[in-house]
Amino acid sequence: MSAIFFSSNTEPECKEEIHSILDIPTEALGEKYLGLPTAIGRSMDGVFDFIGDRIRNSVNGWGERQMSCAAREVLLKSVAQSIPTYSMSCFKLPAKLCQRITSYISNYWWGSSIDNHKIHWLKWSKLTKSKGDGGMGFREMKLFNQALLGKQGWRLMSNLESLCSKVMKGKYYPNSDFLNATRRKRSTVTWRSILHGRDILKGGLIKRVGTSSSIDAWSDNWIPGTVSMKPIVRLDMATAVTVADLITEQTRLWDVDKLKENMSVMDVEAVLKIKLSSHPMEDLNAWAFERNGVYSVRSAYKLLKDIQMSEADYAEGGTACSEGLGQWWRHLWKMKIPPKVRIFWWRAIHSFLPAKAVLLRRHVSKEGHCHDCGHSSETIFHTMFECSYAHRFWECIKEMTGLKPPRLHLTHG
Ligand SMILES: [Zn+2]
Repeated sequence: MSAIFFSSNTEPECKEEIHSILDIPTEALGEKYLGLPTAIGRSMDGVFDFIGDRIRNSVNGWGERQMSCAAREVLLKSVAQSIPTYSMSCFKLPAKLCQRITSYISNYWWGSSIDNHKIHWLKWSKLTKSKGDGGMGFREMKLFNQALLGKQGWRLMSNLESLCSKVMKGKYYPNSDFLNATRRKRSTVTWRSILHGRDILKGGLIKRVGTSSSIDAWSDNWIPGTVSMKPIVRLDMATAVTVADLITEQTRLWDVDKLKENMSVMDVEAVLKIKLSSHPMEDLNAWAFERNGVYSVRSAYKLLKDIQMSEADYAEGGTACSEGLGQWWRHLWKMKIPPKVRIFWWRAIHSFLPAKAVLLRRHVSKEGHCHDCGHSSETIFHTMFECSYAHRFWECIKEMTGLKPPRLHLTHG
């Protein structure tokens, strides 16, 4: 059965007329339609609280304590994290709600319960790093939200003939295209959400060189395989305006002399890798982070996460020393051992176990010595290999299996 939804500003006569033209007598005024709120004012306060409540209820339903951290990880990722996905693909959720969801997920992960405030050993922005980068691969809601909204923008940009594109164009950018539509004050929540997604979309678009006259050589993204996707250096004697100025028209080849006059050797090398067609098409926008040039939420999220992490590294004084650890993490996650044991070792390597010396360093405990053998510093290494208990454990293992612990030279605690 069809139904019509009118804005609250619609005059009764107008409603009447539309009802009779379309021959649809029913008005749909449910609070929600397809799971989303139907009428959202300019303020989003409280509109999406139902998402937080649903996550809270579902996580609370899993009960406390019986589950291993590996099981909690699976449940959080497959159930709790996916509850807001549909709403997030249409609306930019309020920051407060994202925080609320995040705290439910991290409280449950670290403490087996939403309301249990156990130690969060790793801050959320790092827990959401991929497993290969030393995190647990949880989702940063705010960033995932933006990546999902970018998809809406991609659709508006690439399906110009769809009804939705036509309506949006008629209303918001009748005289330009989607990428150049201006941001107006007091626009609807829907439009603001789409523009929020457009920010990441713009960051990852690259022009595929065709006729090349529409590409600004200096401000557009057009050089694949480089970080900036545009020339890094513009030489003083540069004369090129568009990319077409760098191509010999008759032969449809890169004009190497011209390139060298305009940009650095490194840029020239990167440009020469772009193949030129002898029958050029229009310059097309493509998504730089997928081989097929089509926007994907996955790659956009990764881009956002990488940007977030590099900004954090920069703010912390550029400690990019975790580089070499990547292969160790990947090795750990591939090991054929029970998932909870993998997570145990993830914690051990990160020093996320409550050994006394660790707690002392984190100001949780006032003393750091080992209660079992009296050693002055109970580090994780001490409890696993040095302590009298550990020695007995390894002796038993040796008797049973013939295995010896590897000789380790660790100094950190
Ligand atoms: Zn000890």
